[in-house]
Amino acid sequence: MLYSDIADVFDRLEGTSSRLEMTSIFSDFFKGLDPGSLRKIVYLSQGRLHPDFYNAELGMADKLVLRAISFTAGVSESKMDELWKKEGDPGKIAETLMKNRKQASLFSEPLTLEKVLKNLTMIESAEGRDSQDKKMKLLSNLLMDSNPVEARYLCRIVTGRMRIGAGSMTILDALAEAFGTKEDRPDIERGFNITCDLGFVAETLAIGGVEAVKKMKVTVGNPIKVMLAERLPSISLIMDRMGGRCAMEFKYDGIRVQAHIDRDSVKLYSRRLEDMTSNFPDIAAELRKQCRAERAIIEGECVAIDKDGNMLPFQNVTHRRKKHGMDQAVEDYPVKIFMFDILSVDDEDMTLRPLGERRSKLNETFGLSDMIQLTTMEVVNSPEEGEDFFNRALGKKCEGIMAKSLSQESVYRAGSRGFLWIKYKKDYEEALTDSFDLVVVGAFHGRGKRAGKYGALLMAAFDDESGKYCTVCKLGTGFDDAFLAGMPDMLDEYLSETHPSTVDAEMIPDVWFLPTVILEVVAAEISLSPIHTAAKSIMKDNAGLGLRFPRFTGRVREDKGPEECTTVNEIISMFEMQAQNKA
Ligand code: AMP
Repeated sequence: MLYSDIADVFDRLEGTSSRLEMTSIFSDFFKGLDPGSLRKIVYLSQGRLHPDFYNAELGMADKLVLRAISFTAGVSESKMDELWKKEGDPGKIAETLMKNRKQASLFSEPLTLEKVLKNLTMIESAEGRDSQDKKMKLLSNLLMDSNPVEARYLCRIVTGRMRIGAGSMTILDALAEAFGTKEDRPDIERGFNITCDLGFVAETLAIGGVEAVKKMKVTVGNPIKVMLAERLPSISLIMDRMGGRCAMEFKYDGIRVQAHIDRDSVKLYSRRLEDMTSNFPDIAAELRKQCRAERAIIEGECVAIDKDGNMLPFQNVTHRRKKHGMDQAVEDYPVKIFMFDILSVDDEDMTLRPLGERRSKLNETFGLSDMIQLTTMEVVNSPEEGEDFFNRALGKKCEGIMAKSLSQESVYRAGSRGFLWIKYKKDYEEALTDSFDLVVVGAFHGRGKRAGKYGALLMAAFDDESGKYCTVCKLGTGFDDAFLAGMPDMLDEYLSETHPSTVDAEMIPDVWFLPTVILEVVAAEISLSPIHTAAKSIMKDNAGLGLRFPRFTGRVREDKGPEECTTVNEIISMFEMQAQNKA
């Protein structure tokens, strides 16, 4: 297959901001592909060769890509610097220079998908002293044979920033349209939620249709999208919603870990599907030791503890997120894991079983030790019992409680937030609202003391229905000097020359960013806003919801991907919760 056919599709996708149009461009294209190529092209559309959780990634630095472009086009470094300052996107620079090229090399041949995949695979696996040089030459070798549009997307694929605005939800829509009907969309999405592998779902669907996707199971080694909790403003509302009876667990303040335990290996994934095995080698080894099954997938919260075994606040466990010096961190910051769910045991998929059954299975399957424990859980039958349990949780330095449904429908809903689990935290009693995890979509140049830096950021929440990031506030408070100075390093690699098609904004910043970096923000209140686009016209005609007096808490949520930030629906429910609290 010719790579130009793929690049042309990416180009058409980039030219539209309508999700419906993107879906139909993709689905028409998908229908004509063989299943193996479809799988690979789905990964390429996300700037990858493999699913997100795969350990290796292309991730070439911009500087290296620029070197490959200058090597291919025969352009001086100073000219490249000039172009880089102007464009800020290696893809655009490659495209411009390939257009200006008088003629392609005499030996130039049309690029095929196979050739592109071969070189990209070598780039992904290049290691050792001269690996940078090798990567640069492998990319240049492809650029030699590229037309301008092909070059644009080659440079975007290797940096992992495609800028075509089509996320996983659009691909799932397109897969349903190409190989099934609208009604099949939830089954296809479940396939993705339990495997986290869009390419695999696409291939399975193209080979065996929706029936094959329905038979997909959770598997050790494929992380599962985590189930998330809704929130309510009081224990009595929680008990009402749960029908007067539910399980309550302590809500520990640590890092969520999904452990995939195999006969002789264990992998730990974060809720963002990053491999964290090297951060918690002690937990991985102890889980293997205490697990009575050959294979299992469990979830738990890893919490830092002091010398006497008492739980410490979240900040302490983040020392375990380091890249280097882990041996020392393991010694300095001991942790425990509190297990709360089991998703598979010896290849038996537990995700569709009710919570009570899963909890019994968890108890049966694991021995306990100092390091491996179960969350404290009790069955609660009244608001008074709930309040009592909540107070005991706070006494043990927990954040609050998780209420969990015990009904027959209380399955593990991979990748979704719902009322089967409801969280209730100490903050809910005190402040108007919980904190927000918002994604940076733009910045405003600073003035006065902040001249020459970014002075404020435009922040957005994710609308999981439209797939867009909708603005909720301009954030300029809570930044210390070090954070202000470090902002360009953190953000500039996501600069976008134009208003990104996935961002829904009326407030126009000085610079745009592709939605990537997530910051934790607190605010005094959620209010109706004439300028912000979150929940536009839902609570009131022509008004959206915005945050009043937003402040950065100092916490960059590196553990969350952009689609995992606070959603517009959550902000609506917090707005309603705030109204009830005020009443
Ligand atoms: P939040 O991050 O505020 O949305 O709260 C949900 C998170 O609480 C989960 O992702 C877990 O990391 C954490 N957590 C702590 N204790 C529990 C528990 N007993 N059950 C489920 N999640 C828990």
